[in-house]
Amino acid sequence: MERFLAGNRRFVQGEFANNREYYYKVSLEQHPTLLWIGCSDSRVSPSIITDSRPGEIFVHRNIANIVAFNDGNLLAVLEYAIKHLKIPDIIVCGHYGCGGIQALDAGIEDPFITNWLLISQGALNTVNKTVGLSPIERHRRLVEENIRLQLKHLSLISIVRNARQDNGMPHLHGWVYDLDNGEISAVESMS
Ligand SMILES: [Zn+2]
Repeated sequence: MERFLAGNRRFVQGEFANNREYYYKVSLEQHPTLLWIGCSDSRVSPSIITDSRPGEIFVHRNIANIVAFNDGNLLAVLEYAIKHLKIPDIIVCGHYGCGGIQALDAGIEDPFITNWLLISQGALNTVNKTVGLSPIERHRRLVEENIRLQLKHLSLISIVRNARQDNGMPHLHGWVYDLDNGEISAVESMS
């Protein structure tokens, strides 16, 4: 734990001290322009991989960046992001090398993870219709299909659907992050 507290002291003395005005401004109120729905994976930290600062991205993360209709946590995040923060863009960001997606494909015994991943079953069904893929291609395709599926789920949630019908926002985007080279690519978008 000490390592992380020491890191915080470096942050306070460096980044925070050097940008007092910025941190004062964001301490008063936040105006993030992006809602990020991503994977909990420790290697996919939204602020770091987009080189952005505190105050810029509103974040929701779970295993395999899943959008579940009965997830009260996500629904509250969406309600706040859309009604109060009026965030214009929502990203569903998956990543290659996702352990959740590997577990979806391989099947595992852990009951809670298995139950959670059932929400992505449609993506697995889609990929299973494609033959002749190498294991790497299959994994990447499954990651991408899962992003498309969750984006579709997102578009069907009433808070999102009603807001989009009423004022054309938020725009929905599917992105994928590559652990090998640090790059983000667009998979799909619904403007
Ligand atoms: Zn993941």
